[in-house]
Amino acid sequence: MTAPALAWLRDDLRIADNPALRAAVDHGGPVVVLYLFDEESPGIRPLGGATRWWLHHSLAALADDLSGRGGRLVLRRGPAEKIVPAVVRETGADAVFWNRRYGASREIDARLKERLRGDDIEVASFAANLLVEPWTVQTEQGRPFQVFTPFWRAAQQQPVRELVPAPRELTSPQHVDSDDLDDWGLLPTHPDWAGGLRERWEPGEHAAHRRLEHFVREVLADYHERDLPAQEATSHLSPRLRFGELSPVQIWHRAHGELTAAARKNAGRFLSEVGWREFDWSILYNNTGLAHRNFREEFDAFPWEHPRKADLEAWQQGRTGIPLVDAGMRELWTTGYMHNRVRMVTASFLIKNLLIDWRIGEKWFWDTLVDADEANNPANWQWVAGSGADAAPYFRVFNPELQAEKFDPHREYIRQWVPEIDGDEYPEPIVDLKQSRAEALAAFEHVKAARTTR
Ligand code: FAD
Repeated sequence: MTAPALAWLRDDLRIADNPALRAAVDHGGPVVVLYLFDEESPGIRPLGGATRWWLHHSLAALADDLSGRGGRLVLRRGPAEKIVPAVVRETGADAVFWNRRYGASREIDARLKERLRGDDIEVASFAANLLVEPWTVQTEQGRPFQVFTPFWRAAQQQPVRELVPAPRELTSPQHVDSDDLDDWGLLPTHPDWAGGLRERWEPGEHAAHRRLEHFVREVLADYHERDLPAQEATSHLSPRLRFGELSPVQIWHRAHGELTAAARKNAGRFLSEVGWREFDWSILYNNTGLAHRNFREEFDAFPWEHPRKADLEAWQQGRTGIPLVDAGMRELWTTGYMHNRVRMVTASFLIKNLLIDWRIGEKWFWDTLVDADEANNPANWQWVAGSGADAAPYFRVFNPELQAEKFDPHREYIRQWVPEIDGDEYPEPIVDLKQSRAEALAAFEHVKAARTTR
């Protein structure tokens, strides 16, 4: 009898196009499908509240799908370097398969691979969650790209892999201990703030495919309106990609499949946004401290204000008196999502009008976004701050009033989230936009000075 194989799932909570799961099935024996909740290992960034909520539901959906195919999801909690070898021992597995990670946690995988191989266990890792492996896209000098356009041009030269078919059925050993998902406490209880998330989202692979299909058929043709937050013009696939309910390879193939002429016109633009995700992951791959360290060191000289509690809370709660900022922050708090244009505006307001360190805003988004992503979140915050790769220049300060006039001209988005805007309840702005902009530019002189003295 063939020994069991272990498929260790991480941010790839899907059955279709999952090379590690496929390899475990093709191994020929029973398959132990393991999800490990690891908040302890070095290099792991513990999830925020909104992603914990998503993870719970996505795992529940995956467990259902697996059992529909004869398999079973095993849940364990603890540090990977302890738990994975323990599960291998308990089940008598002779092979372990996983899809690659690209942040600091890849060190855990490298150590595990060596250790398991030392115990004569077959180990293989696969490319699954990016279109291109970060180390394969380089400048002519063999260095990582720091600018998006040449990165994406080079990335697109590479062939995109074929889709990996979902196993129709699999058998899993039944007598393997598993935690109870409810015991992990991923869902909020007191208070239960997740009502807006439940209303807005349905996590899981099936729902992800329905969303992709809806997007391609009904929305992609309007993607050129992606900057208008009141329109449904983008895919809303970000949490799906975050948890790997869909792979970018599936999205790429679908966007190159059967499309209306109007959708075809927009497909390149849409895929270039998926390309930004690739770029951000390649930046993280080469700079694993991206959430803590300025990508451009001269920004270490920036004199951040010690954040005033009242300002920070007004921003977090959507009470700044700046309508577009407040609308965005309330959308975020209620649904776990915020429109991209508004993310830029709210981030810019925190950094450049309140002079609060981008890392503080990044942490808030990390806690509240359902798509909070180890690469995209810090990379985008640093993009807005000016300290990132291929970033907006610091001196380009978004004016949230002008942004609202341009991108929400009829105030539909603002009214949806800030209905009191039309009455006299709405507060005065907590800062003077003009004066704070001038102060930000004066503070930026420190960065300029650091740049010239380096
Ligand atoms: P679409 O426009 O449909 O784009 C398709 C996919 O491309 C997205 O799902 C996403 O995976 C990727 N993408 C789109 N825009 C970007 C971008 N600017 N950078 C990187 N990838 C992109 N995105 C996250 O996935 N996780 C985050 O934690 C995150 N934090 C952000 C923080 C700030 C301050 C800003 C300005 C942006 C952030 N973004 C983040 C990027 C972007 O806002 C979201 O990916 C996008 O709004 C998701 O909506 P969508 O799926 O409808 O996007």
